[in-house]
Amino acid sequence: MKDTKYIFVTGGVTSSLGKGIISASLGRLLLARGYKVTIQKLDPYINVDPGTLNPYEHGECYVTEDGHEADLDLGHYERFLNIETHRANNITTGRIYQSVINKERRGDYLGKTVQIIPHITDEIKRSIKLLGSKEKYDFVITEIGGTVGDIESLPYIESVRQLRWELGKNCLCIHLTYVPYIAAAKELKTKPTQHSVKALQEEGVQPDILVLRTEHPITPDIRKKVALFCNVEADAVIESIDLPTIYLVPVKMQQEKLDQIVLRKMGLPFEGKSDLKDWNNFLKKMQNATETVKIGLVGKYVSLQDAYKSITESLIHASAYNNRKLDLKLISSDDISPDNIVQTLEGLQGIIIAPGFGNRGIEGKITAIQYARENNIPCLGICMGMQCMVIEYARNVIGYKDANSTEIDPNTKHNVVDLMEEQKGILNLGGSMRLGAYKCKIDKNSLAYKVYNAETIKERHRHRFEFNNDYKEKFIKAGLKCSGINPDSKLVEIIELPNKKFFLGTQFHPEYSSTVLNPHPLFVSFIKTVIE
Ligand code: GLN
Repeated sequence: MKDTKYIFVTGGVTSSLGKGIISASLGRLLLARGYKVTIQKLDPYINVDPGTLNPYEHGECYVTEDGHEADLDLGHYERFLNIETHRANNITTGRIYQSVINKERRGDYLGKTVQIIPHITDEIKRSIKLLGSKEKYDFVITEIGGTVGDIESLPYIESVRQLRWELGKNCLCIHLTYVPYIAAAKELKTKPTQHSVKALQEEGVQPDILVLRTEHPITPDIRKKVALFCNVEADAVIESIDLPTIYLVPVKMQQEKLDQIVLRKMGLPFEGKSDLKDWNNFLKKMQNATETVKIGLVGKYVSLQDAYKSITESLIHASAYNNRKLDLKLISSDDISPDNIVQTLEGLQGIIIAPGFGNRGIEGKITAIQYARENNIPCLGICMGMQCMVIEYARNVIGYKDANSTEIDPNTKHNVVDLMEEQKGILNLGGSMRLGAYKCKIDKNSLAYKVYNAETIKERHRHRFEFNNDYKEKFIKAGLKCSGINPDSKLVEIIELPNKKFFLGTQFHPEYSSTVLNPHPLFVSFIKTVIE
């Protein structure tokens, strides 16, 4: 294709309508037609990145290969599109302002008053177009975070308005809104949609396509009415009804002809074939599974389903490929004690020990690990989960009763998990962890090797503390295997217990790289062991 096409996805009425899923689904459909697609998220908050946000505020923090702490929607993009995203795929207002202010200090705007228009909007437009120019993409899909009408999203909508003029036919706007059902009146209501489109129009942007999120079918009359009030063609009003799984959304959007309408409006052939074979194969496996696999996820943010998004999705992928339905129990590590551990883990076939920071819920994780180890329940520890496995082994097998991580107890005599050398002296908390993909060399005689079937792997990290190599010999003598080591820094990346069915911890986060078409081998093997 000659020119890169830019598609913007905005949202109205309320947040949490699934803009990320709609954007990713459209991306999947365009890929299925053979186009080169990338996708980005613009977040209107002032944080430079979401790395310092509490998961309760903003859900999981996702990490890209190049070590960017990103919005969790990038996880959806990678899982749906099977592509790698990078720092450039997630921009925040904080990043935009930081860049403009740096330029101002350098003297790049010498003599000029620096203003939201044009300087901030120019920087936003530059960030959007940067993606298109880097590699030759046919489509750049840009999701604008927040809700139209918010003060903080104004510069983004203004940038879209300007880009429409600059790009002409190569630019298209999709607006996602909500059509509530009033149970007492037994009626779907379009007024919030009308208001939201009006707000967008007031900011100078006319949407080309409307996607209506709804719990009940949208009738042809409603489509016509929305089209009439919002200056949109009736066939460009699309229903997005609640579905049992997000992975059905691309199929639903295909039925609604979202991809065809986009292509037609952008002057491209839209009748050609679309190949969703592999995607449908995954869906079939997921939907045909009758038996369930019962897994417990032990963590401290269990009241928010988005806090462990990538782990949940990885488990869904792995279960489907093992022909199982996932039955996931979220267990608050705060509530676990030696007195209730038997009831808490009763009936679970395997447990995952979640990543985390700080000391809340740590002892509960350690109790769960001890129970899993002693009863040979398959157990996978991720990052802090792996560190807790190390602490548990040191306390209960080696006999260092006070063993701990210096993150939890800075004065422990047995600091089996300790701050990494490179982290000492770092004062800034933003973007300063060991982040992104690092190599790991795997011992050929290990479970890890069986899982990966490779000697060298690359996985993504997000941590400051590490297995303390001063204790390595002690652990090895006591039967714990350090089966994955970083070849450069010698950091221990994988630990395991050879005489168990599956007892393995990773310093890295395998969950960030499981996709629908490439489920992560660690999760697939974990589920496979669990059901065997
Ligand atoms: N808090 C631990 C560390 O910084 C683990 C981090 C995590 O689980 N992502 O090393």
